[in-house]
Amino acid sequence: MTAWEAVIGLETHVELSTKSKMFCSCPTDFGDEPNTACCPVCLALPGALPVPNEEAIAGIVKIGLALECDINESSLFYRKNYFYPDLPKNYQISQYTFPVCEHGTLDVDVNGEPTVVGITRVHMEEDTGKSSHIGDGGGRIHDARHTLLDFNRAGVPLVEVVTEPDIRSAEQARAYAAELQRIVLSLGVSDARLEAGSMRFDANVSVRPVGETKLGTRTETKNVNSLRSLQRAISFEIDRQIQVLEDGGSIVQETRHWNEDTGATTSMRVKEESEDYRYFQDPDLLPLEVTAAWQDEIRSTITALPAERRVAIIEQGVDRETAVILVDSDELSGLFAAALGDGVPARTVALWLTGDVVAYLRRNEVELSSTGLTSEHLAVLGRMVDSGDLSSSAAKEVLIAVLDGDGGPGEIADDRDLLQVSDTGAIEEAVDAVLADNADALERIRSGDMKPFGFLVGQVMRHMGGKADPSVVRSVLEEKTTDSR
Ligand code: ADP
Ligand code: MG
Ligand code: ZN
Repeated sequence: MTAWEAVIGLETHVELSTKSKMFCSCPTDFGDEPNTACCPVCLALPGALPVPNEEAIAGIVKIGLALECDINESSLFYRKNYFYPDLPKNYQISQYTFPVCEHGTLDVDVNGEPTVVGITRVHMEEDTGKSSHIGDGGGRIHDARHTLLDFNRAGVPLVEVVTEPDIRSAEQARAYAAELQRIVLSLGVSDARLEAGSMRFDANVSVRPVGETKLGTRTETKNVNSLRSLQRAISFEIDRQIQVLEDGGSIVQETRHWNEDTGATTSMRVKEESEDYRYFQDPDLLPLEVTAAWQDEIRSTITALPAERRVAIIEQGVDRETAVILVDSDELSGLFAAALGDGVPARTVALWLTGDVVAYLRRNEVELSSTGLTSEHLAVLGRMVDSGDLSSSAAKEVLIAVLDGDGGPGEIADDRDLLQVSDTGAIEEAVDAVLADNADALERIRSGDMKPFGFLVGQVMRHMGGKADPSVVRSVLEEKTTDSR
């Protein structure tokens, strides 16, 4: 039996959320009445001339810089020629040689295993219009009786991010896609909504025998629109290709379609080669200049990227998985950052936020902002646990009450009589009483058998109605059992 290795390269389209389209001043909110946001430029009527959108160029440069790309000071626009009903120009303005950004990297992590995915290029292009297929086919073209076209989306700035074939599993592909989405969101250049199509993926997949260095024939599964679908589509495609090869067949280089309901990819068409598009430089557009000075200016607007923010949180003693959840939510990470301070246990607060608080919000179907919780509350509660005034289980009870809007942690703990005794005097008395009642346990500890120690801790806690700080109980007990040796 051959052992197989999967090879995956992803192409990701990201619609930029600029106010106007890529080469004209039409608005980009394409949810409007169909065909109301179109002009001669986005329809390429004779004599209309495109003018590049400066904000869109700044947006692609931001993405390129975040992906550690080289930014070309001069890049070129090309026409990619093909006929499709949703493409009113019969060509798409795109880039070919000399894209805006090249040679980048993106680090991904799957269960603590890091991989560097090479970024081949990040280029600027424009989106197509939208077709709606009307008929009995449930929106599919095959059984449609007619098709409606809306060109409002045609010409919306679209960035394409192309990776090297560096990805080796469906999980890695998903991790790459999720990280790219986080980066784009944190840069504020796109709303990156997968379900709305403002971010979408094409997955190139091939397999080869382990040890083989030549690439196998690939298929390209188009327009996958969720992270889960991406992972499923790639897994399916890997398994399918291995099966075909093991049965003695060969892989056809083709474009495939992912069907969410059947959980399978199906063949759409034989894949076109770049020669098919008759690329030529757009005679209406000059080379695009992105000077070093402009790059610096754009770079200075980039705030800490998600990876950097995660590292800063991990350095506070928080585990990676929790740090990911925190950074993915501006609200949670904002509260976390504001709560930190002297005596506030970062890890505990992070776990409360990503565990108890998130569960509370889900359970009660409420927004964080409509609960009573503030960063000040978290800080106070954190300090109470840190100082031993509150046990960690009592703290959770207080946290829920704070979320319910019952008041601040101090008063809730007080009202509910949850405060722990960490006053050594009271604990010493209890320890003495317990030791007097358990002479045999004490004897065993003295002779070096530590087994009864836990039992004694339990007895002291019980003696104090469960309200002693266990760590103080342990240390007093330790002192007293060794002292008397
Ligand atoms: P196209 O635009 O025609 O799809 P590209 O050559 O730009 O072509 O490749 C697109 C993507 O396919 C890239 O992400 C690349 O890494 C990936 N790719 C190319 N060859 C393979 C292969 N044999 N197996 C898996 N991915 C591949
Ligand atoms: Mg492609
Ligand atoms: Zn227009």
